[in-house]
Amino acid sequence: MYDQLTFETREDDLRLRGCWENVLKKVSALMAPKMAERFLHRIRPAELRDGVAILEVPNSFNVEWIRSRCLSDLQRAISEELGETVLVELRINATARRPEVTAITELRAQPVVVERSARCSFEPGDRYRFDNFVTGQSNRLAFAGAKAVASDPGKKYNPLFIYGPSGLGKTHLLHSIAREVLQRDPNFPVVYISAQQFAEELISSLQQGKIEPFRRAQRSVGIWLVDDIQFIAGKDRTQEELFYTFNHLHQTGKQIVLCSDRPPRELHLMDERLRSRFESGLVADIQWPDTETRSAILLNKAHEEGVPLTTQVALYLAEHVPGNIRNLEGAMTKLAVQSSLNNHEISMDLAQEMVELHYSKAALARPSFTQILDVVSKFYRIPVEDIRGTSRKAPIALARHVAVYLTREVTQGSWKHIGHQFGDRDHTSMMHAYEKISKMAGGDRDFANVVRSLLRNLNPDGQ
Ligand code: ADP
Ligand code: MG
Repeated sequence: MYDQLTFETREDDLRLRGCWENVLKKVSALMAPKMAERFLHRIRPAELRDGVAILEVPNSFNVEWIRSRCLSDLQRAISEELGETVLVELRINATARRPEVTAITELRAQPVVVERSARCSFEPGDRYRFDNFVTGQSNRLAFAGAKAVASDPGKKYNPLFIYGPSGLGKTHLLHSIAREVLQRDPNFPVVYISAQQFAEELISSLQQGKIEPFRRAQRSVGIWLVDDIQFIAGKDRTQEELFYTFNHLHQTGKQIVLCSDRPPRELHLMDERLRSRFESGLVADIQWPDTETRSAILLNKAHEEGVPLTTQVALYLAEHVPGNIRNLEGAMTKLAVQSSLNNHEISMDLAQEMVELHYSKAALARPSFTQILDVVSKFYRIPVEDIRGTSRKAPIALARHVAVYLTREVTQGSWKHIGHQFGDRDHTSMMHAYEKISKMAGGDRDFANVVRSLLRNLNPDGQ
């Protein structure tokens, strides 16, 4: 059921995994079987570290859903099973989504223990594939380059350099290449690494006097996928190492693919020798996609995640949600969570309300709920999870009530919405909390000053 255990697996992790079935039973009993199947059973208990259980879930939709519906139930069940208080942290599964959290990453069709780097094993997630990459004018060249490289590594465009703003599909393409190559030949030596990981691995191997194994590992690949290369601009030692690796691979006909947020010529702090090497193959850009492409991407995602989104709503979001594809996906997630909480379909009305609440000019200028929790948590020195939790201990309850008060003041959200933000609480309890804080501030000048200064912290331009 879980990834195979590596020699890194710790006793605490095993305890967490050991109790998982019971936790599932307990928490599943509190919700409809369909929901348990859809959300709970996709959680993977990953680690238990310093009293925090890290649970992995496949995507941000699941994170939001679990946060708003059953985070405290999970926390309680795990704590009961382990006989100690445990906090819960949700993380999107690295193998299914963001590769940045992995160390030097060897991609294989099957999970393997990576010998040279004990930190992780990695298989390309299902999420990023050529067949779910939507093409349009904005990304056609990059897509064609990536396809060509995947079908014939080292033969056509070498290196392939893809650049474009964040959140427009560069990592998606890198993963798609890896996936296709490995599907054809599961033993093909594929390395995916972000430039930041490259720098970190380099530093730690220098510290441990193990530079040779590091070099061997980087150079014994058939296809080398380096993400976010802009990160090493200005880092001379890393550039030097990358330069030698690059040359070695290039001379031996190995495929190199690099991604960056800007074109080679604009990597100002990059060594000129590297820059010109980056330009020596195919340089392909990804531009901002037009509205039609944005809505096609969104409809695709919705289909994959089982979110019932109409073309009309997709177009509306594509037009009104500012920012990159990641933001657009985030908006869809919000909408899907909201509709499942309300038990209501994703209508145009709901979409308009959500856009107004989160993406209108006024909303974008407002501090977010996370910022509010953060400010209150820092001030009262109480963890965010407790503020959103169910404890009735006086200091925690006070911090929670203040957070409710600030949320209402700052976001102008409906009581119902605020109730959801605070872990699916009843809207009347939110109103009571607000009134309580208003009264306290009315009768106690010091307390009123505290609330005012917290508000000012969140809203420096306000009065
Ligand atoms: P980048 O690496 O450029 O910052 P990502 O590859 O992480 O961006 O993409 C961000 C999100 O947008 C991912 O979920 C990705 O699947 C999605 N995405 C971006 N462009 C496309 C596209 N053309 N088709 C499908 N999904 C896309
Ligand atoms: Mg990326």
